[in-house]
Amino acid sequence: MLSDGAKLSAAFLAQEIDIYGGEVILELRENKVTKDEKPLADSVEKKQDLAVPEVSNLLEFNEAIKTCLKCALGHTRKKFVFGSGNPNATLLFIGEAPGQDEDEQGLPFVGAAGQLLTKIINIAGFARDEVYIANILKCRPPGNRVPLPEEIESCMPYLSRQIELIKPRYIFCLGRTAAQSLLGLNDSLGNLRKKTYQFQHAQMFVTYHPAALLRNPSWRWDCYDDLKKFRVVYDAEVCGKSPMQELEAKKRA
Ligand code: URA
Repeated sequence: MLSDGAKLSAAFLAQEIDIYGGEVILELRENKVTKDEKPLADSVEKKQDLAVPEVSNLLEFNEAIKTCLKCALGHTRKKFVFGSGNPNATLLFIGEAPGQDEDEQGLPFVGAAGQLLTKIINIAGFARDEVYIANILKCRPPGNRVPLPEEIESCMPYLSRQIELIKPRYIFCLGRTAAQSLLGLNDSLGNLRKKTYQFQHAQMFVTYHPAALLRNPSWRWDCYDDLKKFRVVYDAEVCGKSPMQELEAKKRA
């Protein structure tokens, strides 16, 4: 058990590392497999085919995989959280993994972080039901611990197929786990945010996880900058005009 002082110091260090990068590897959340979790070797049906089932749409896909037991999280989840939103979305948001509320409701981002995500989506100029929301993992890690590499590896083919079916033009990674897992880069979030990336057929942007923004409200301005960066690209490529630039011009006039 960490004391309150140690937790605060750890939180501060984690923020610094998140923003600036660094050699220290520090994870605030408990990252241990709890005693209630079955060891992987006992519970994973190792021989289960890792191939993704042949499906032609998201509904069929959810039906085909919602009883997944490829990793131990299949045994501890309450509900499988496939993802939700517009199946033809231009913009896809990808978080880390379901939390307690999501595990209970079977829907992504329905808790406090989800409410902030709705605001982020609105600031980007979209309604929540216009975009699609998914996670790196489809099942909740007990105690909301950080996903294990083998869990990410088992679940990634599902997300990859989901992206193929949705065909978003733009993807926003929410937080370091999402960005690192999708890009295969072990960089700090501060560095990952600096660039945009090509992923499958989409242009990918990286910003903070809404839960991190709830803990560190001053980071919202950086998140706003990330949304602005996306919006300038989106307006130029999709709308052929830039409402944000128009707004700024009006402000200056
Ligand atoms: N955090 C996530 O990363 N995903 C959710 O669905 C909820 C909280």
